[in-house]
Amino acid sequence: MKIVTNEDFNSLTQRAWVEIDYQALAHNVSSLKRILAPETKLMTVIKADAYGHGAITVAKAVLDSGADYLAIATLSEGIDLRKAGINAPIMILGAINTPDEIKEIIRWNLEPTICNSEQGAIFARTLADLGQRLSVHLKIDTGMSRLGTLWHETVTFVKEIKYCPYLSIKSLYSHLATADDLDPTVINLQHERFKEAIRELKAHGIHIPMVHLANSAGTMVGQEFHYDMVRVGLGLYGLYPAPHLRDKVSLKPVMAVKTRITHIKEVPVGTGVSYGHSFKCDRPSTIAVIGIGYADGVPRLLSNKMKVIIRGKYIPQIGNITMDQIMLDITDFPDLKVGDIVTLIGQNSDLTISADDWANIIGTISWEILCGFKHRLPRI
Ligand SMILES: *Cc1c(COP(=O)(O)O)cnc(C)c1O
Repeated sequence: MKIVTNEDFNSLTQRAWVEIDYQALAHNVSSLKRILAPETKLMTVIKADAYGHGAITVAKAVLDSGADYLAIATLSEGIDLRKAGINAPIMILGAINTPDEIKEIIRWNLEPTICNSEQGAIFARTLADLGQRLSVHLKIDTGMSRLGTLWHETVTFVKEIKYCPYLSIKSLYSHLATADDLDPTVINLQHERFKEAIRELKAHGIHIPMVHLANSAGTMVGQEFHYDMVRVGLGLYGLYPAPHLRDKVSLKPVMAVKTRITHIKEVPVGTGVSYGHSFKCDRPSTIAVIGIGYADGVPRLLSNKMKVIIRGKYIPQIGNITMDQIMLDITDFPDLKVGDIVTLIGQNSDLTISADDWANIIGTISWEILCGFKHRLPRI
């Protein structure tokens, strides 16, 4: 077989890479803003390296497109953004329990979440020692059973924070557990609890500048969940939390994952392919090797179940996915060449493979697929 190499090889796109479509990102931000009331703020959730898209470049792009606030999960994610020169307000979603973390938060002008009175006390003591004031966000648990004080203890919790002269409350929020579910029972229960907490605060004469509740799914379900701000992650990246939410807002996928054919060979009938020989050729076959594997974030569970797109055609994958390489059966596609670009996720002519397709095959969610792509893949 004649081996032809594409001329457009360059250092970043020789093996495998992730393409980020900033126009799609800008489109998603403006689409999302269109379903918000004018006074509702858009907090863009860029934790986990912006769900694998690259936090710093995504932060700059979404702020340019009109996002109001950034949210990350960990302190070091926030520090990385500040080091990159990003000045927008940044909220930390994760729990903070130590004075050392609090000192870093002050140093880098980040806004932490306080989840209960114990954490509040650590903040109060540390800030008093330092003689520093800090803006914080308070988390209540209305049914997610993750971070936060139980909703019916909101007033006691908020009072403890409020009476600390060094803490200034910027917002109070909760998180939805089932907003993507067709059955509204739990979301309505959580909403009632959230409203009850807000009513109780009012009854005690406590004013909180901002309250917020909605993730992407909550944002798409309806404006009654929006309050002063929405916290959108998945939707930003152009994916829908559930199929029934597709008609609520127009979104375009931001990420594409690509690689190249690195090697082609012909093998006789009966040849076993890859570790464990989970695939055996039932005819004389042409096998193409592509330069990406589970170490890059392609789940090994997709072995023998996935397909890719090359030159506008779906091509079946065969054998077990290995750490750095994957095999394809290209017997029916004799014109394919070493160097041809392979789309694993994304669009090629009129064909598409989405993170949802992979998630459905292996029984996970698109969130996990997106943030699974490793730093070994350059983002371009
Ligand atoms: C991750 C996260 C979000 C964003 O969730 P999406 O479903 O990706 O929109 C919002 N709020 C909190 C507290 C989160 O942890």
